[in-house]
Amino acid sequence: MKKYDYLIVGAGLYGAVFAHEAKKRGKSCLVIDKRDHIAGNIYTYELEGINVHKYGAHIFHTNNKQVWEYVNSFAEFNRYTNSPVANYNGEIYNLPFNMNTFNKMWGVVTPRQAKEKIEQQKAEAGITEPKNLEEQAISLVGTDIYEKLIKGYTGKQWGRPCTELPSFIIRRLPVRFTYDNNYFNALYQGIPNGGYTQMVSNMLSDTEVRLGVDYLENKAELDSLTDKVVYTGPVDAYFGYRLGALEYRSVRFDTEVLDMENYQGNAVVNYTDSETPYTRIIEHKHFEFGTQEKTVISREYSTEWNVGDEPYYPVNDDKNSSLYAQYKVLADREENVIFGGRLGEYKYYDMDKVIEAALATAEKELK
Ligand code: UDP
Repeated sequence: MKKYDYLIVGAGLYGAVFAHEAKKRGKSCLVIDKRDHIAGNIYTYELEGINVHKYGAHIFHTNNKQVWEYVNSFAEFNRYTNSPVANYNGEIYNLPFNMNTFNKMWGVVTPRQAKEKIEQQKAEAGITEPKNLEEQAISLVGTDIYEKLIKGYTGKQWGRPCTELPSFIIRRLPVRFTYDNNYFNALYQGIPNGGYTQMVSNMLSDTEVRLGVDYLENKAELDSLTDKVVYTGPVDAYFGYRLGALEYRSVRFDTEVLDMENYQGNAVVNYTDSETPYTRIIEHKHFEFGTQEKTVISREYSTEWNVGDEPYYPVNDDKNSSLYAQYKVLADREENVIFGGRLGEYKYYDMDKVIEAALATAEKELK
């Protein structure tokens, strides 16, 4: 006997948005997750009165007014604006790359001077058409910034040299010829008061959620409860890695409570040299302008992913993109399964894009 219209595998953002939309249209849903909590990688928990981003910093930002209004219907957002700083062997630079960065690097004061400096370094490197992340970075910001702020960080983050990485990764970051340290160009930005877990919990209110349930290990039994599955786990795992494993980057966090009010003066500090073993330190209280007596920091270590580890970032290089294209053919043939989210679609999605995708799928599926 089928009990549910939809079985949703994964209680992260994609699954929660789809479940909410389905419920709204009178469908019955069961949401399962193999972890013991909801909210996927945007999960936050409270420590010393501070909301800790367990799986890494998540700053909500979007240009899409509909998506902004959507998230605001589940949580109230604060005015946090991401302005990470880069620490290169003790030298501090503002991010993203903007006039403050150029001034500190070269002493230039006007946009014209900064552009001349970049053009000169680009010409010296002989780059006309950038073919990889290294060439793309040099052609956007010049050799000095590439060497101090990009090369080491990217090497650590992706475990590969910049010459072997696709250039779109660096184009995620704005390059600006104004004195503006806002990391994003988005019109709307903020952190949900009370944490992301509460926001996702509000999306899932009135929906049955079962935690600690591994779909792939209990597939036949779970499939018998429904006609249609929304699967947000890794697409290659779904098919038993039969074409080979897609590569992901994983991340490990060392989280510490410190008996001081303010450790680093900013929510995010990137360590951009190649020797420091971690990529960044997050000081969680600064996402919510916290005034607690103690502070919580997380050092973030980027690691190679092996089957069984938590996947975080798809590695969208040529090799993995063509392997994913083969899995996509298999996925499209699974008539009763919708594959969604960062892992289901092997895509470096930001949160707002996940919501857009889930809403679009819901619209199509549930009309
Ligand atoms: N990046 C860098 N130096 C920095 C910050 C970012 O070279 O100080 C590069 C790096 O390759 C990274 C990419 O920019 O993978 C995208 O950074 P973003 O902050 O968007 O990554 P995320 O927050 O998603 O990990």
